[in-house]
Amino acid sequence: MPPDERYSRQIRFGPIGETGQQRLSESRILLVGLGALGTVAADQLVRAGVGFVRLVDRDFVELSNLQRQSLFDEGDIAGNLPKAIAAETRLRRINSSVQIEARVDDVNPSNIEEYLDGVDLVLDALDNFETRFVINDACAKHTKPWIYTAALGSYGLVMPVLPGRTPCLRCLLGSMPAPGTSPTCETAGVVAPITHIIASIQVAEALKLITGSLDPHDVRLTAYDVWSHRFQRIDVGKDAMASCPVCSKREFEYLDGSPLRTITLCGRNAVQLIPGVRGDINFEELSKSIAAFGSVQFNDFLLKCSAPPYELTLFRDGRAIVKGTDEAGIARSVYSKMVGL
Ligand SMILES: [Zn+2]
Repeated sequence: MPPDERYSRQIRFGPIGETGQQRLSESRILLVGLGALGTVAADQLVRAGVGFVRLVDRDFVELSNLQRQSLFDEGDIAGNLPKAIAAETRLRRINSSVQIEARVDDVNPSNIEEYLDGVDLVLDALDNFETRFVINDACAKHTKPWIYTAALGSYGLVMPVLPGRTPCLRCLLGSMPAPGTSPTCETAGVVAPITHIIASIQVAEALKLITGSLDPHDVRLTAYDVWSHRFQRIDVGKDAMASCPVCSKREFEYLDGSPLRTITLCGRNAVQLIPGVRGDINFEELSKSIAAFGSVQFNDFLLKCSAPPYELTLFRDGRAIVKGTDEAGIARSVYSKMVGL
């Protein structure tokens, strides 16, 4: 099949053309997270004919994913497949000319720089702040552009970050939110139309960036709510960069430090998690949202949620013990879904 035929409609689109298609075929992308956002972005990028995509995700495909995570099906659940492997298989069938590297891993300060090696753009399709702040630091350190996305309920956000030129995630959010203060898709729910729209906007920004059409002066935070149709483009402003520790001082607190330290508790089939930000969790509030996972009990000191095969014991300051695994990546995943970090 001649490549021009495959990409003919995209090449005919003026702002891309033959030159843009050539640039796409030479582009190298890291995509972190293969949930509702990442599966849609990966599908569109591979169909668009990027040269190389490195996919990293730490989770397995579960039944509750199929409502919105469009690369997966019931066969992936029956086969107990990690998301990265299931996605890779499907994407290879879609476009065999794209080089795909799939990694089943938890992205964290110890490996992010290795994953950044050899790519020119990073797409964030994550469900937790902890890893996003690590990506923000690492991309600033190595001057790699990245595109932030988030979606929850019927609402979502997209913002390209061109290090040194446009505001970063810390310019936007300040520090990482304290544990237990942010709702998650598991607690607040999410509808497929918003994750597809947000991932599509992210891919549009990626196509512009790769083909040379993204004007740094026009970079904004895009916010959209598919239920109310409220659409906003927000100028985060250059002033935020002047007081941002990453943009103005090149301090990489989340890359150098450890926002969510994990310690495997030997012989107990449990992992302890210690967040870098001390929380003051309201157990009464959290017990309502966390009840979606299983039975919850709490007193003045700790909250316990039993969600077989895991059990979470959470202390007021955000420290937790996840029983049922001795793998740090799984424990982090359980924590970020239930507590939200
Ligand atoms: Zn910044």
